[in-house]
Amino acid sequence: MGIKSAFYKICIVGDFGVGKSTLLHHYLERRFISNVQSTIGSNFFVKHLKIPNVKSMVTLQIWDLAGQDHFKWVRRAFYKGAKGIAFVFDLSRKETFEHLVSWIEEVENTINIVPRILVGNKLDLINPNERIIPEQDCLTFKQKIKACSYEETSAKSGNGVDKIFYNLTREMNKKFRR
Ligand code: GDP
Ligand code: MG
Repeated sequence: MGIKSAFYKICIVGDFGVGKSTLLHHYLERRFISNVQSTIGSNFFVKHLKIPNVKSMVTLQIWDLAGQDHFKWVRRAFYKGAKGIAFVFDLSRKETFEHLVSWIEEVENTINIVPRILVGNKLDLINPNERIIPEQDCLTFKQKIKACSYEETSAKSGNGVDKIFYNLTREMNKKFRR
């Protein structure tokens, strides 16, 4: 039996400023950069990942919207070929959570349904006792959109960041590998 390697394109989606680029940067570089816009020039990044019980390495090609969040017409090409989507909102800004409905609609209007994960970022900015978006609302939304999991992250501390890509990759492996 030969060892086959898997390759997946992933898109990170969500409102401008929720921390998409910073999350990605933390995942790849393991540190917080307070202004990633200038650091990240190109549109996608490659990461090799090992998943338990899967012999081969998985290659992730992770696409970030960079400066194009505002241009709907560019995003159609961006989604093409994606095998997984991370939908990101900012736990400190409720409207970014509410806008996910239209992000999901936009993705579903462009490509077939693929594994998705829901991410609430900027955990370090909220007081757990005075949450603007109750955790139950996040979990309910996760069920509604059939996301494989809901992760709360901080791109500042790195908390939970690996789990986004790890869980999404496991889900893509389930769906796309025999
Ligand atoms: P994008 O537009 O979704 O790519 O968002 P950016 O990654 O550019 O982040 C927007 C701003 O939020 C930047 O100033 C980041 O430094 C900041 N930021 C991103 N993630 C976090 C986080 O988890 N915690 C805190 N405190 N700030 C963050
Ligand atoms: Mg960005």
